[in-house]
Amino acid sequence: MRVELSVVVPMFNEEAVLPLFVERLRPVLDRIGATYEVVAVDDGSGDLTAATLQRMKRTWPELRVLRLRTNSGHQAAISAGLVAARGDWMVTIDADLQDPPEVIAEMLDVGRRERVDVIYGVRTDRSTDTAFKRGTAKLFYRTMRRISGVDAPVDAGDFRMMSRATVDAVNALPSHGRVIRLVVPTLGFPSASVGYRRDERAAGSSKYPLGKMLRLTLDSITGFSQAPLRFATWFGLSGFVLAFAMLVLAVVRKLEGDAVSGWPSTVVIVAGFAGLQLLCLGILGEYVGRIHASLQGRPTYYVAYDSLIADQGGRSGP
Ligand code: UDP
Ligand code: MG
Repeated sequence: MRVELSVVVPMFNEEAVLPLFVERLRPVLDRIGATYEVVAVDDGSGDLTAATLQRMKRTWPELRVLRLRTNSGHQAAISAGLVAARGDWMVTIDADLQDPPEVIAEMLDVGRRERVDVIYGVRTDRSTDTAFKRGTAKLFYRTMRRISGVDAPVDAGDFRMMSRATVDAVNALPSHGRVIRLVVPTLGFPSASVGYRRDERAAGSSKYPLGKMLRLTLDSITGFSQAPLRFATWFGLSGFVLAFAMLVLAVVRKLEGDAVSGWPSTVVIVAGFAGLQLLCLGILGEYVGRIHASLQGRPTYYVAYDSLIADQGGRSGP
């Protein structure tokens, strides 16, 4: 059977919100006028997410469950879903109802009407996000645009519809440290956007603690920009020039008979430069670590179970 639309939903410990989500998503999809599948990617949840999905599957044949062996992260879960999805169009949406399912119908309309491959969901109103989230997001998009040159639409997250051609192009790229929202704009497919109001999380709590946010930021920077490496070079160079100038100054003052005074300044300079060297090493380390991880060629996720394959009587997963 041809699937016209795949809805990819990453889920990590979403038992609280899952029934609410499905209650709103299903009517939208049943009325959308396209054959569809929902690919629920259970990102190694430890709660009742897996059991709930299995139960829902019994009364919803279009629901397909993909389970990852370990918690591999939001981006890896989406990647897994995009590889498994069979649709002509694919939309990725969060499970917490912050992205309204009704917008999917609008996106499909735009995709069919206009000759575009990517339809971004753009948040027109983020008043429900915390000030911290809004502030960091704003900083993230502005900075990434400047240092990477990637023309990622501001305020577009991972609520996005993509054509088969776009998803094939994404899937063909290395998946380690992939930040999909930055990869997609670089592919150069014609795009459109649909505005939406970002609601509050309907139930449960955020699965994006500060550590995961930082990881995403580091992946974005090291994956798309060499500006930090250049910063290290230029800073090191200016430090060297400065040190040389100070050496000349010290020699001149010595010749003038001035005793070299003040060790505090010396200590500050030594400590300052030691810190800077460590920072530069850290920057190098981030890039080397990325190369190292890519060389291992290890998958970013392991699929433990795919209900589609299981239903057909096959063995799912590696
Ligand atoms: N998510 C996931 N794996 C993770 C973290 C999050 O699959 O390791 C999913 C989560 O279940 C949700 C989506 O990614 O559907 C976005 O996460 P969340 O809403 O917690 O992030 P926030 O909106 O707080 O940034
Ligand atoms: Mg959320």
